[in-house]
Amino acid sequence: MRQTLVVGNWKMNGSRASVAHLLGEILEAIPASGAEVAVCPSYVHLAQAIELCAGSAVAVGAQDCSRMPAGAYTGEVSADMLVDQGCRWVILGHSERRQYHAESDALIAEKLSAAVAAGLQVIVCVGETREQRESGEAEAVVAGQLRGALQGQENLAGLVVAYEPVWAIGTGLTASPEQAQAMHAFIRACLSGLAGVDADATRVLYGGSVKAGNANQLFAQQDIDGALVGGAALDAGEFLAIVGAGAA
Ligand code: PEP
Repeated sequence: MRQTLVVGNWKMNGSRASVAHLLGEILEAIPASGAEVAVCPSYVHLAQAIELCAGSAVAVGAQDCSRMPAGAYTGEVSADMLVDQGCRWVILGHSERRQYHAESDALIAEKLSAAVAAGLQVIVCVGETREQRESGEAEAVVAGQLRGALQGQENLAGLVVAYEPVWAIGTGLTASPEQAQAMHAFIRACLSGLAGVDADATRVLYGGSVKAGNANQLFAQQDIDGALVGGAALDAGEFLAIVGAGAA
């Protein structure tokens, strides 16, 4: 039985005031049991969020980490630094990192090794573009991203994969529950072919314009184990409703 996981990716949004306000609303109403919940603010808001979430059911994660452990890497933040702050999670390979920072599967694999070695729980994002889906390449692209990031890795217990079709991120377009389920089942089949991965235990989240209005249907699918939520995670009411759908 895989516990539903709902993760908010706040991207490059927020201020000290808005973080305090949003987390205040979330923490006041978060159900004591049900879906597991994490929020991923920007690096500069991590310490504040960790302090606010201390002792609550909400864990805090980062949106990226360096592949390197320490040293002369200006602007980077290591996995050990995140753990030292109190982070539990890290998102790796988000499509915006792949698109705007030219992150390759090989780089994501290095970051994954660093994060696992530091003791972080990792969410690896995969997903095809609209052109790739339209030309029938979606499965091949996703399989390649999974292999590229995960093959040869040690210690992938607790790994989480997020399927985020690029055409559905921040666009208001959502994969239908059937489309998403088909890709999630395919991802689980790919995972079962990788050494060191327990495919049945691995949670596969869906991401791409998830909101209160579509979460129930998505979570009802057999291989959808929760959501990575962008825009709707900045609205406490929407986010809490998605968390509530995961507890049902
Ligand atoms: C995301 O960026 O991970 C995401 C899923 O964004 P949105 O929910 O806004 O589509």
